Amino acid sequence: MKIAVVGTGYVGLVTGTCFAETGNEVTCIDIDQRKVDKLSAGEITIYEPGLEKIFLRNLKEERLHFTTDLQSGIKDAKILFLALPTPPGEDGSADLKYVLGVAKELGKILDQYAVIVDKSTVPVGTAEKVHQAIAENSKVEFDVVSNPEFLREGVAVEDFMKPDRVVIGTDSERAKKLMNELYAPFVRSGNPLIFMDIRSAELTKYAANSFLATKITFMNEIAQLCEKMGADVDMVRLGIGSDARIGKRFLFPGIGYGGSCFPKDVQALVKSSVEVGYDFKILNAVMDVNERQKLHLIPKIKAYFNGELKGKKFALWGLAFKPNTDDIREAPALYMIEALLTEGATITAFDPEAMKNVKELVGDQIEFAENQYDALQDADALLIATEWNEFRTPDFLRIVKHMKNKVIFDGRNLFDTDTIRELGFHYESIGRSAVTQNNSHGQ
Ligand code: NAD
Repeated sequence: MKIAVVGTGYVGLVTGTCFAETGNEVTCIDIDQRKVDKLSAGEITIYEPGLEKIFLRNLKEERLHFTTDLQSGIKDAKILFLALPTPPGEDGSADLKYVLGVAKELGKILDQYAVIVDKSTVPVGTAEKVHQAIAENSKVEFDVVSNPEFLREGVAVEDFMKPDRVVIGTDSERAKKLMNELYAPFVRSGNPLIFMDIRSAELTKYAANSFLATKITFMNEIAQLCEKMGADVDMVRLGIGSDARIGKRFLFPGIGYGGSCFPKDVQALVKSSVEVGYDFKILNAVMDVNERQKLHLIPKIKAYFNGELKGKKFALWGLAFKPNTDDIREAPALYMIEALLTEGATITAFDPEAMKNVKELVGDQIEFAENQYDALQDADALLIATEWNEFRTPDFLRIVKHMKNKVIFDGRNLFDTDTIRELGFHYESIGRSAVTQNNSHGQ
């Protein structure tokens, strides 16, 4: 089948590549000329495990094309995916200018029946707006379908190729048939293609992300209690996670959720709720707690150094908002960097994939190291903001050799506290008792 994907970011590039992988002919359209040039030349623009290999294969076999030209890009496409940004507007609601702008353009250039699919995360009622924006100019029949995307950055290819479920909101039998055909190869193992009405599909995406953000936040609050009550959050996590109703996943406490989805989607759902006269109390609390959690380590660091961070040198491991991605949108590490720089500290950071993006954002306000150990040179403390696998079992002797003080503040609970105690570190993490050493002091 011939399909088009408008917007070639994290979602669009994975969507386009994976549809090409199942034999479709896919054209990805983006307004960013540099991105299109790079992709056309075989240079991948995001870090996503497993993507480059199938991207190159499908490019070579000419099932995957890139262009900035919407009109030629959508030519003969039966299904057109909109994978455009929906960032928070000034009031927190999802800004639909990209989606509706493209919809308007499509209305002028569609020359045969097509299914227009909202893959972007959009508020309830958006498909109707997209329909209207296209219909204003269109002379041909078309259907608008909601097909929210549930892929997780870092495992996006796996999630797309083997989805837990595919949600499709449509009121058109014609569109349903085409979507069924397109997705059939992805649900062969029996995971469901769930067809529903458009509004329910739109809300499903916000409900899923808001629930997950709430689950993380709940554990972050339990972690706060653990610290105050002398309990160990890892034990509580194991204790509650064994209950099948609760489940083991998404129970890890840390320095808050970030990324391009949870923060903006929770905020947008709160805003949508207000618009229909409903006060979504839990989600308001989730946002408050998460704001606080992102800076949870800062007072601990300050207390350790007797309130004086000026001139202190910190090594920072992890910048991406989570492992296995170069995405730094709303990354807790960025909030920590800002807070520490304001206090007059200096920072040398290392991240396996995200340093380029952070460099573009903060320039030379911080230093970047070649590897995780170089970042530690003369550091007063090591801070951990992202749980990359390579940070989990480091060479502690190398760590000690490089650092000025044996001090670690761990926002992701990477290390076993008993091991760390034996190694003689001062170690503070989330929801667990601090490991202190008699001979450690803050100066
Ligand atoms: P992104 O910013 O990575 O990509 C968006 C792309 O759209 C960019 O390449 C941009 O240049 C392009 N673009 C902007 N205006 C355009 C236009 N007029 N014509 C063509 N291209 C245009 O965004 P993303 O992370 O891929 O997210 C896209 C949507 O998917 C959002 O609504 C997001 O909430 C949703 N989503 C994201 C994820 C995720 O993990 N990133 C997961 C599920 C859903």
